[in-house]
Amino acid sequence: MKSERLLIIGVILLAIVFIVPRLKPILFETASEHAVNKFNIHYFDNLVGPKQPTPTKTALFNELRPHQSLERYAYGKNSRMAVLLTTPNPSWLGLAHALKTFGIPFIITTNVAEALQHKVVFTYPELPGKLDSSQLDAIRNFPARGGTLIATNVLGGGMSYMFGFDKIIPSKDRHDIHWNTQHPLASDFLDPREKVATLGHDGLIGSYSFTNPAETPLAKFEDNTAAITQRHIGNGRAYAFGVDLGYYLISGYNNPDLPIARCYVNQLEPSLDTMMRVVKRIYQQSEPNAVTVWTVPKGKDLSVIYTHDIDYAQSIVNAVEYAKYEKAQGIRGTYFTQVKYIKDFNDEHFFNKRGVRYLKQLDDLGMEIASHSVSHSRQYSRFKLGTGNEMYPTYVPLVINNSTTYNGTVLGELRVSKFLLDNFRPSMQPNAMVTGRPVVSFRPGVLSVPRLLPEAMEATGYLYSSSVTADNSLTHMPFQLNYTYAFRQEAPVFEFPITIEDEEKPKMGSRIQPAIDLANKLKRYGALFVVLIHPNVLDHKLAFEKQLTQAVKPYAWFGSISDFGDWWSARNEVQVDVIGPRQVQLQVPKPIDGLSVVVPTDWTLKSVKVIKGNAVTVTQSGQRVQLTNQFSGNAVLSF
Ligand SMILES: [Zn+2]
Repeated sequence: MKSERLLIIGVILLAIVFIVPRLKPILFETASEHAVNKFNIHYFDNLVGPKQPTPTKTALFNELRPHQSLERYAYGKNSRMAVLLTTPNPSWLGLAHALKTFGIPFIITTNVAEALQHKVVFTYPELPGKLDSSQLDAIRNFPARGGTLIATNVLGGGMSYMFGFDKIIPSKDRHDIHWNTQHPLASDFLDPREKVATLGHDGLIGSYSFTNPAETPLAKFEDNTAAITQRHIGNGRAYAFGVDLGYYLISGYNNPDLPIARCYVNQLEPSLDTMMRVVKRIYQQSEPNAVTVWTVPKGKDLSVIYTHDIDYAQSIVNAVEYAKYEKAQGIRGTYFTQVKYIKDFNDEHFFNKRGVRYLKQLDDLGMEIASHSVSHSRQYSRFKLGTGNEMYPTYVPLVINNSTTYNGTVLGELRVSKFLLDNFRPSMQPNAMVTGRPVVSFRPGVLSVPRLLPEAMEATGYLYSSSVTADNSLTHMPFQLNYTYAFRQEAPVFEFPITIEDEEKPKMGSRIQPAIDLANKLKRYGALFVVLIHPNVLDHKLAFEKQLTQAVKPYAWFGSISDFGDWWSARNEVQVDVIGPRQVQLQVPKPIDGLSVVVPTDWTLKSVKVIKGNAVTVTQSGQRVQLTNQFSGNAVLSF
């Protein structure tokens, strides 16, 4: 018996010594050990890069970053809305970015007396917050003195009587907010999706309802309780929102995969937009000097951007046909190009000598060349940041199947694709006839978004992202991103979400009328309309683009992601203040072409005085006042 036992132990030991090491490559295979077959890579002669590393051990990649300073949003005249922060460091960036997007001039302050100098005050995130009793008294008396107060999370502070309700009832089980479309503030919400905003069905957005409202509510929940109350007090008004608007906004901007939206793409999902349209109208009706910044270049009604994802061998050939059509129409499209020098599970390599010939044609036709990653991996959202030293041709992300990719990094996808695209573009050569600019726009394959994308884009020289759908973001407007899609600090990167795409059924060519109908709804509030067409086929998809162009041309501005992004980021810096009777001061630090402001109905332009900067021509059409040429500097418009 003893010798048998020894034999068994011996066999086990032999197994450990000989078999386990052979299993190791299967069991413990790591990315760096994964074999790269050199024959699967397309090598361009002597090409290596980018040689400049991307630093990763910097504050940019420290997720414990400090909270955004108020400094940038602290200054402005009393004609602006005042956002009064009542607790330290709430998620106010959501509100700030939405106010910027909708062109509502504002300041943010923690000083109650300063806030109450303004006609319209938004207390955020809650009342009473950290305010003392004398500060709360001042706020309670503000509407009676003619001010307009907007508040979220009215939890106490003796405010309920002034707002006109008895009690609040919290819940995580309310799903819908029904606007009172009899009310002038919501009377142009015509579509069912405008009439009802969604909070989702997963309890992600909590809410408060208000009992026994003194006046007809501006909106109700599906259980018929008050969601947004209104009260007239003398010449003043008070509105209490039963949702935390800043948190709701940031949930749409930051978390496109949360199950809140009612649809994914190709439809109208304006839940955040209707909220902000109401806030904008409250400002316009309550502030006699309400001058807002318009959202579309050249005073048009809708910003239309054609984007094309090249992620398949035939697509790079067909793309040139789309580009020729667009050039003939005077339109610049954006060509998100996968830099596919590796043959893998997805496809053969098409970023090779032949692919580069077509890329050069797109560049020569004046189209925007943008990055659609190297690997087009479905796992991009889970990639590690990387070393910042990834280079062609040693960076070899290998897509094994739909659920496995080896060797890929967040930075590798960004820096190596940008390097190769810029390297081959004729407009980037030193002797170019028309000088281009480096690639600045990015869209990941299958919209797989890593949390570190905003900072990784900044670190690698990108400015503009089109990586989510509008419907999933609950908004058809552009917005600024925050680092790590969190709430502490804003990144110098803007998102332009996708409105229409070509993969849902029925096929794109038979969806032209719904797309035109959607454009007609979005033009009513100056929204963004980003179209994604994969150029894998011409046929019905090119026909779609041609029909759409003809239909929206009378009211649309057309341009690429970078054209619009440059315009949008310059607009983001514009400061608007009313400095005297009907005197509007525009501070425009970055050059912008075709900026418009919207003035009160009875204002007529009398004169324009440039204090600093180049000469400018200004025209007025109704309430819209447009600077028709490129301008930067400081000007005063008198009405
Ligand atoms: Zn793609």
